[in-house]
Amino acid sequence: MIQQFIRRLISPFLSRFSKKWRLVIVEGDSLPDKIPQRVLVLARDGHEDWCVGMRCPCGCQKLIELMLIPEASPRWTLMTDSKGRPTLKPSVWLKAGCRSHFWLRNGQVEWCRDSDQA
Ligand SMILES: [Zn+2]
Repeated sequence: MIQQFIRRLISPFLSRFSKKWRLVIVEGDSLPDKIPQRVLVLARDGHEDWCVGMRCPCGCQKLIELMLIPEASPRWTLMTDSKGRPTLKPSVWLKAGCRSHFWLRNGQVEWCRDSDQA
């Protein structure tokens, strides 16, 4: 009984730290209108990875779109580990709004020290 109570108390905290981002691939060169929380959407046109989209992890709901194609500037590199968890390079820095600055590494958001969220 008490154990159950404690588990219910701490589970929101545990899940907050253990929730990983996962990668979802869509066909085409554009992102869907709706992107769920903690999902990195990769738009792949044929064999070309076009861009990735995600919701800002701070919770402000802002849609972040990052270009992957070599012609783009700035551009990002997307990698996945053996479990398919996404890693983005370089870091993502929102210069306006919530000013979030973070890395996505192995499906985990790591806040930077200069971010308002850190
Ligand atoms: Zn934000």
